[in-house]
Amino acid sequence: MEPKIIDGKAISAAVKEEVRAEVDRLKAAGREVTLAVVLVGDDPASAVYVRNKKKACEAVGIRSLSYEMPADTTQEKLLTCIAELNGRDDVDGILVQLPLPAGIDEQAVIRAIAPEKDVDGFHPVNVGLLAIGMPRVVSCTPAGVIEMLVRSGISIEGREALIIGRSNIVGKPLAHLLLQHNATVTVAHSRTADLPAVAKRADILVAAIGRPRMIGPEYVKEGAVVIDVGINRDTATGKLCGDVDYDAVAPHVSAITPVPGGVGPMTIAMLMKNCVELSKMR
Ligand code: NAD
Repeated sequence: MEPKIIDGKAISAAVKEEVRAEVDRLKAAGREVTLAVVLVGDDPASAVYVRNKKKACEAVGIRSLSYEMPADTTQEKLLTCIAELNGRDDVDGILVQLPLPAGIDEQAVIRAIAPEKDVDGFHPVNVGLLAIGMPRVVSCTPAGVIEMLVRSGISIEGREALIIGRSNIVGKPLAHLLLQHNATVTVAHSRTADLPAVAKRADILVAAIGRPRMIGPEYVKEGAVVIDVGINRDTATGKLCGDVDYDAVAPHVSAITPVPGGVGPMTIAMLMKNCVELSKMR
């Protein structure tokens, strides 16, 4: 069976095109969509993520403001910066790149961001709104997964969906979104008993684990849709790979996302979309 390869690059480009049109429309009406990006410390991966986010802003016409603080910044100083950004009328979205250096309480920082400027959807208020089925701004990676499924014409309603991974940024919010789309949702994790048997039931299988190529054909039902959120570095080749053993699994599925070029590009596109949505809500 030839699977449909879900092209995250093409879908994210379409999303960004729509965002761009919306940004232009808002600009014409006198509103410049603005995202403040805060980076603390010198983690090289975080620096790359922040650079990519700023580039994406530029590409869609969103103004980005950059706040770079040294690794020894105190929590108090960071909270002061966030308070200032909360108060600024010209700032629509605030993004604090995680992880933060040791000694800074990540949860305190997330809670300090005004929920109406929380572009990542991590604030407990936004998490709660999602949980009661009234989402305002949703964590970008899970939102990107849903967007990919919907835009690929994959039906979610009534189907068995399994998410492997229960993190606050991917697994849990994705479970709520899939429920909202009327899937029958199971969340598996490191303590799940007999994961291959649980996984074999899934019509839609999402891997968000962080283990290179862990998911082989023994986890996958014939004809399932497989979404690979994982971004891992293959220790042997140094190349990026997902949580799914793509070559072994692809012949058994109806649709699959590659890594790279799958969920990754969707995350940034959804960040741009969230920023515009927040601007419109304000
Ligand atoms: P995390 O480490 O917070 O959570 C991993 C989850 O996997 C945990 O809930 C754990 O219970 C589960 N798990 C670990 N080992 C397992 C096993 N052997 N069997 C079953 N479950 C197991 O990770 P995260 O932040 O949710 O990220 C997961 C992966 O997705 C990582 O590879 C990360 O790099 C990637 N990611 C990609 C994007 C993107 O834009 N595509 C965004 C966020 C995360």
